Amino acid sequence: MAQELLEVKNLKKYFPIKGGILGKEIGQVKAVDDVSFTVRKGETLGLVGESGCGKSTTGRSILRLIEPTAGQVLFDGKDVTAMSKEELRRMRRDMQIVFQDPFASLNPRHTVEKILEEPLIVHGMGNAQERKKRVAHLLEVVGLSAYHAKRYPHQFSGGQRQRIGIARALAVNPKLIVADEPVSALDVSIQSQVLNLLQDLQKEFDLTYIFIAHDLSVVKHICDRVGVMYLGRVVELAEKNQLYASPKHPYTQALLSAVPLPDPEAKIERIILQGDVPSPANAPKGCAFHTRCSAVMDICKTERPPFRDGGQGHFVSCHLYN
Ligand code: SF4
Repeated sequence: MAQELLEVKNLKKYFPIKGGILGKEIGQVKAVDDVSFTVRKGETLGLVGESGCGKSTTGRSILRLIEPTAGQVLFDGKDVTAMSKEELRRMRRDMQIVFQDPFASLNPRHTVEKILEEPLIVHGMGNAQERKKRVAHLLEVVGLSAYHAKRYPHQFSGGQRQRIGIARALAVNPKLIVADEPVSALDVSIQSQVLNLLQDLQKEFDLTYIFIAHDLSVVKHICDRVGVMYLGRVVELAEKNQLYASPKHPYTQALLSAVPLPDPEAKIERIILQGDVPSPANAPKGCAFHTRCSAVMDICKTERPPFRDGGQGHFVSCHLYN
């Protein structure tokens, strides 16, 4: 089995809710609430869930783009959560991010050359001439051309802008890329081109990905393992084929029942979830899914189910399997 590159242990990110005239803390939004998983070298781990489930906050907390409230992130054995600013700056060379909205994440006043050169300057990589060469190379690697370097982000299509975002992440030769919904803002016709590019780059540069998406159908082709998140927690995590063939958690079962099947004749019973996702500021006690679960039992309302490996690395957090 491949070695682990990243270990996330009991990660939490709580945002304070302030109120009253004095702006005192009156509550907390538990955006990430005790999340643990590992990522193996060279694999793609998908993190999937509805909007507000904490998947993007998890990705950003791992990189410390936002400070975690508690927990540990071990990257290549080094504790990211305990790093000084300078150590973190150096570590960022190994851990990069691709954002969802390529337009918002690229400075509109900078040329593509300047955008791609910036991380090289920050990390002291090469002289001006070497950096210019590297920018031209990066553009070719992501399917653009060296002459695009002089253009500005608004002169590109959405798919091309995401290619620039990917080139920027690749510039410093990272080991891990957190791809935060990298295709959600793109036309369906462009999505598969960007997914294919990510897969090709992974092979070529020996990359490890955390791929964040709100849709199980998007991650199906690109991921090796998939973790499903609900209200700040990972409720199920397994090898892709196992998760899609025999999902255990009632929430995963409901999400999968909504994924269209390639065979139009095939029938799958759609599971309609009752009610809305509760607010993470007021998450239900016990199992956070109990307000919408058709299999709910008394214990679910009071005791949080442990996140356990039920065999072959198929983790699930549900009292049905205890
Ligand atoms: Fe449903 Fe209970 Fe399992 Fe939660 S723990 S998913 S409420 S059966």
